[in-house]
Amino acid sequence: PTPGSIILEVNEARKQFGGLVAVKDMQFDLRAGEIVGLIGPNGAGKSTMFNLVTGVLPVTSGEIRFCGQRIDTLDSRRIVQRGIGRSFQHVHLIPHLSVLENVAMGTHLRGHTDPVRAALRLDRVEEARLLYLAAEQIKRVGLEEFMHTPAGSLALGQQRILEIARALCTDPVLLLLDEPAAGLRLKEKQALSTLLQQLKAEGMSVLLVEHDMDFVMGITDRLVVMEFGSKIAEGLPTEIQNNEAVLAAYLGG
Ligand code: ADP
Ligand code: MG
Repeated sequence: PTPGSIILEVNEARKQFGGLVAVKDMQFDLRAGEIVGLIGPNGAGKSTMFNLVTGVLPVTSGEIRFCGQRIDTLDSRRIVQRGIGRSFQHVHLIPHLSVLENVAMGTHLRGHTDPVRAALRLDRVEEARLLYLAAEQIKRVGLEEFMHTPAGSLALGQQRILEIARALCTDPVLLLLDEPAAGLRLKEKQALSTLLQQLKAEGMSVLLVEHDMDFVMGITDRLVVMEFGSKIAEGLPTEIQNNEAVLAAYLGG
């Protein structure tokens, strides 16, 4: 996509779980090369919004477009194939397998949910191709010295970066990250921040849900703030910091 062009459009997206409206007529865009933060108090609907964009959950109403085409009718596997990669809020690694194997497996998944079943369907040629692809992405994120280290023995910050390498294997244009900085030490947050800036410089767009305000303020171009399923504010990090509705949402929550 052309830098600066709109790649993600969320139009009046709504998600109901029985009587509970988790996402209520959400409206926002994301442009190519932008890092946008989706923030808000606990229970605001951020993860649900993510799940709508990635096709993990169907919308109750409204539409979501990616590069001009509707994706709200597609399953998560097809959405990944269109160019939206994601990492999960909780790390999904197989601890005794190496970094390389974990990333290669993630590549093959492309939206599958059962890694073991997916792995069993691999043939040798396919396996070699995946290992090559995985190694490239591991280098891209700077984890090459840990290529053959069991994923479970990496520090949490490195595991988060491994998750990103995994998501990169599906060749996304847009990366969705759910709380990538949660639980990380300051140095790890800085490493993550540097990686996201590098990806942005390579043309990647990022939508991230994050609680850590210092991290969010330092890395995002723009913020979208949710409360009770709705957007209550949108703007530059410096604008949002002083927005009264946002302050009230956090303090009153
Ligand atoms: P956030 O990520 O901002 O903390 P969530 O999107 O996880 O918020 O949740 C928004 C609201 O939707 C919460 O009230 C939550 O309890 C509810 N919710 C989320 N997922 C489900 C589900 N699968 N079934 C029923 N309610 C859900
Ligand atoms: Mg959440």
